[in-house]
Amino acid sequence: MTTDVVDTVADKPADIVTDAAAELEDADPADVLRWAADTFGQRFCLTASMADTVLLHLASRVTPDVDVVFLDTGYHFPETLQTRDEAAAAYGLRIVTARPDLSVEDQAVLHGPDLFARDPDLCCAIRKVAPLDQALAPYHAWGSGLRRDEALTRRNVPVVGWDAGRGKVKLNPLARWTQDDVDRYAERHSVVVHPLRALGYPSIGCAPCTRPVAPGEDPRAGRWAGSAKTECGIHR
Ligand code: SF4
Repeated sequence: MTTDVVDTVADKPADIVTDAAAELEDADPADVLRWAADTFGQRFCLTASMADTVLLHLASRVTPDVDVVFLDTGYHFPETLQTRDEAAAAYGLRIVTARPDLSVEDQAVLHGPDLFARDPDLCCAIRKVAPLDQALAPYHAWGSGLRRDEALTRRNVPVVGWDAGRGKVKLNPLARWTQDDVDRYAERHSVVVHPLRALGYPSIGCAPCTRPVAPGEDPRAGRWAGSAKTECGIHR
């Protein structure tokens, strides 16, 4: 089954994505994860920023063998790495930590210090996009925790889509969930919570490019605040 589907993905990606998108648009996130694991086996992985761990908790219940790719940019808050380690221990999931080829120090030598402040697109390309591309290479499908209610730019996020740039099926099992849905799930299941959530950080990326937001502010207003940049480029 899995081999056949992998061949289908390679030959006719539009067919499998179109069928699955129609079938799973209204599905429970757990069923989306089950479909991905049944269809792609170990060729399916999740990615996680650790801003919240709801998707990982769900995965631990229905797809406990899934790989979880975590992108360690070298610029994370210590609390993010702490959340990664706590979630791995609590949920028993296999975390695959991906790192850029360049250390923060080597990047400063090559491109000058604080590249994030002068050219965040290049910094993200080096520290996020390239290492994620490498980390996803072995997989035919990947999933993320993107939701439609996170930002206007994400309002059309599909539950099942095609990542044309990487040639992979892209799943967003929580696409239809709201922040309230996430909070309810987190409370009901006592999931591991990123400590900065309680300090006004609804969206958490690299420390130099993330600030807390005021009540009523857009949840992603704290990302690259003061610039026109809204996405790092890994969700394309
Ligand atoms: Fe660099 Fe900021 Fe992008 Fe992180 S979010 S990779 S620090 S520009």
